[in-house]
Amino acid sequence: MNVRVRFAPSPTGFLHIGGARTALFNWLYARQHQGTFILRIEDTDVERSSQEMVEGILEGLSWLGLDWDEGPYYQSKRLELHRSICDQLLAANKAYRCFCSPQLLKQKKEEKIQSGGVWQYDGCCRELSQAESEDRIQSGQAFAVRFRVPSGQVAFEDAVVGRVMVESENIEDFVILRSDGLPTYHLSVVADDTDMKISHVIRGADHLANTSKHVLLYQALNQPLPSFVHLPLILGPDKKRLSKRHGATSVLEYRKEDFLAGALTNYLALLGWSPGDEQEFLSREELIRLFDISRINKTNAVFDLKKLEWMNAQSISRLSAEELEPKVRSVLERESLWDPAWETKDRHHLMQIIDLLKPRIRKPSDFADLGRAFFTEDFQYDPQAVKKYLSFQEPADHDALVEAIGELLQTYQGLEVFDLDTTEKALREIGDRHAVKSGRFIGAVRAALTGKTVAPGIFEVILALGREKSVNRLNRLLEFLQ
Ligand code: GLU
Repeated sequence: MNVRVRFAPSPTGFLHIGGARTALFNWLYARQHQGTFILRIEDTDVERSSQEMVEGILEGLSWLGLDWDEGPYYQSKRLELHRSICDQLLAANKAYRCFCSPQLLKQKKEEKIQSGGVWQYDGCCRELSQAESEDRIQSGQAFAVRFRVPSGQVAFEDAVVGRVMVESENIEDFVILRSDGLPTYHLSVVADDTDMKISHVIRGADHLANTSKHVLLYQALNQPLPSFVHLPLILGPDKKRLSKRHGATSVLEYRKEDFLAGALTNYLALLGWSPGDEQEFLSREELIRLFDISRINKTNAVFDLKKLEWMNAQSISRLSAEELEPKVRSVLERESLWDPAWETKDRHHLMQIIDLLKPRIRKPSDFADLGRAFFTEDFQYDPQAVKKYLSFQEPADHDALVEAIGELLQTYQGLEVFDLDTTEKALREIGDRHAVKSGRFIGAVRAALTGKTVAPGIFEVILALGREKSVNRLNRLLEFLQ
């Protein structure tokens, strides 16, 4: 089958997590079947749509690597098609003009609700004769066009939800063309999906309730139905509809916060789908290969920022230093910490530092923050490190540490072989001799070298910095302590 799918965002807001998940599932399905992924901007709501939002959506998709094969098509440029379909339905008497004013409809609705009923258009204009309809148009009365819902039932198969059946009496004669001449969502989406020969409509479950109307339109237009795939809703951990309260909802926020696009798409893929085993880390190729509509969950998905952060951290630690280097570089450049020598003669050293830091990095900006001391001499001791390792209740403890540090730096200066073993051996011996607890001694050395209370293994840090820098920083600590 020729797979043609589309992502059809309304540019009335940012590309959010839910939209990105819909785009991703469409994209995966298209790529898996060598199909076509179409981008269609549904901008018929002129007042709420903006070019800025369109650009944000395109940027978000590009960042996630969800490239489209056709489009972006703009629905607002396709109004002629939508109107001609409306005319076609009018000509076949499958739609009719409705002259009820918004005020009248509002009043009827209020009355109905007050009397405890449920409002649904009452079919007031349904049986107007052609002649009367013409007369009213002649006299300048505004009208909308409504679809004439046939009696009976509407049924369709959804790949996730299963068979859906709705009694027609529960579907009102819905508007397809507004009195201002603009098509409604129902008309434009069906007109475009049929015109673009969409084979699978993959979208959020919030549209499930609209689908029976769309099915009626397909049938009225004698068009074959596409396969419908309604993706489960995405909730926050509190089981409420995902919103800002649960963390950033705009995809570009995650880019700003330096998340890896690959980690985000990996996480999004698992919102409502799983490959069927415990595997959580999936490359893009694996996602394309394993994605399977029949494994989409019926139950709502839960967006958990903590889990995403964890996946992001894991994804970083799985990358090689070479792969991480461009990210690290852009972070360091942004923080004015980049040294051109890291591109040339010190490249090997940079790779070593990246490898050392990456198991503790949650997001690339941590390289400049947690890892600052590896890239500059201009770093401070964390107040926490000062409190924990460089403050003393007993003067004797202070003096012992000062002596131990002094001896350590001299020993390091004189070591013939400066490696993991010799640096560790020296530190342990000196600590014992001066009766400085090893936790305190190592904590103080760590603070001296990195400014932090947590860092990679201290002897690896010493080697990564090298003898000269390590000794200088121990000297700086001595000055601080005296
Ligand atoms: N434009 C709709 C939205 O942003 C999507 C329509 C559809 O996928 O059918 O919610």
